[in-house]
Amino acid sequence: MLMTGDQYIESLRKLKTRVYMFGKQVENWVDNPIIRPSINSVAATYDLAQDPQYKDLMTAKSNLTGETVNRFAHLHQSPEDLKKKVKMQRLLGQKTASCFQRCVGMDAFNAVYSTTFETDKKFGTNYHKNFVNYLKYIQENDLVVDGAMTDPKGDRGLMPSKQRDKDLFLRIVEKRDDGIVVRGSKAHQTGSINSHEHIIMPTITMTEDDKDYAVSFACPSDAEGLFMIYGRQSCDTRKTEEFNQIDVGNKKFGGQEALVVFDDVFIPNDRIFLCGEYEFSGMMVERFAGYHRQSYGGCKVGVGDVLIGAAAVIAEYNGAAKASHIKDKLIEMTHLNETLYCCGIACSTEGWATESGNYMVDLLLANVCKQNVTRLPYEITRLAEDIAGGLMVTMPAESDFKSDLKVTKDGQTIGDMCQKYFAASPACTTEERQRMLRLIENMCLGTAAVGYRTESMHGAGSPQAQRIMISRQGNIAAKKELAKKIAGIES
Ligand code: SF4
Ligand code: FE
Repeated sequence: MLMTGDQYIESLRKLKTRVYMFGKQVENWVDNPIIRPSINSVAATYDLAQDPQYKDLMTAKSNLTGETVNRFAHLHQSPEDLKKKVKMQRLLGQKTASCFQRCVGMDAFNAVYSTTFETDKKFGTNYHKNFVNYLKYIQENDLVVDGAMTDPKGDRGLMPSKQRDKDLFLRIVEKRDDGIVVRGSKAHQTGSINSHEHIIMPTITMTEDDKDYAVSFACPSDAEGLFMIYGRQSCDTRKTEEFNQIDVGNKKFGGQEALVVFDDVFIPNDRIFLCGEYEFSGMMVERFAGYHRQSYGGCKVGVGDVLIGAAAVIAEYNGAAKASHIKDKLIEMTHLNETLYCCGIACSTEGWATESGNYMVDLLLANVCKQNVTRLPYEITRLAEDIAGGLMVTMPAESDFKSDLKVTKDGQTIGDMCQKYFAASPACTTEERQRMLRLIENMCLGTAAVGYRTESMHGAGSPQAQRIMISRQGNIAAKKELAKKIAGIES
């Protein structure tokens, strides 16, 4: 059954998820003005799936049940499915201008599905069946799942079992007949608070010494012992101000990150997908990271579309749209943005069937995609700020624009002064200009910059992680042979 956005929001109210922010527990986190925009972004993944115009992108036929499911809960069955995933993410980026969070679960489903299949084949374990039953439950109820990989990691020079504090990587602390008890945390978890469920995966390739850390499982967001501490974002308290229609930049949508803490959480046997088989931790990491690096060739491109549009509009508002350098900057922004999209589509087109039958992206191209994402959105942002002008960061507050405090000798108000001195081309009202500048600010420096800028750098793995994969996948040895052959060198 596909839920609507409203039904999704109502379903969150039934959970007893423990959320902390600014040192306090947030009781009604669904209606909290700082958290709610991120919930609205996820709700858009439901609402668009109801829209006949987007049905082909937003839904798919489940290979497990034959039913129509939200594509965010789908196992990719072909390169075509992989491409539709990227196009769906671009669409959502365009509609929300932020991170819509549901992709981490989708990427986890696809990575865990194929990895459990291969783990069972080698060890005779039961993880694939556990996972298939779990995913059927998710698909049938149209749930959001946080795919959680990143541990806090402590001292980066030490493996998990060598850390001073053993909890810096999530681990099994007890094995019982009916399940396991886990302790630790997952850091910067996208969309964790407004997910119904969590899938946990290891964060690095483990060795035998670290086999208690080679663990993957699922649990509900309100499992006993689980809680989350909200990650604050630049300019977040603007969302709580009395005048918050314009200064927030993007009133309706936003992203969300949190620290998810497992304070001895019990996981029953049928929700376990890896439990000590450290040999397969690397495969799970590599596949999840590969899918999520592909994802960025869709979501960031969609947000980039909005930013390019905003830059073009503000150029008109400023009366500068006809200047040749502005036109050229918009061309450059488009070129950069579409370069990212090319990578997202390319790694999908070159997708291949795993042993379990679902499709994996081409890992080299997916890593090239994400490596570009660590750079190009920064240049797009730089050009947007260039076109917008300094007013983007020097403009008075919305409350000034609305103030009726008299300040001039002939009785004009602060609001009058803002209207007078920030008027530009007759193509717009001062308020329209103000709105567009705040939107650009939001994407370049404000709450949405978490998703568009810094997440472009570190989300789905920091730049060096992609370079390691590129070096592994780049096959320099074969390239050397090509060169030697052309040059007529035998050895
Ligand atoms: Fe989805 Fe992009 Fe957010 Fe990752 S960063 S969850 S791919 S929108
Ligand atoms: Fe991300």
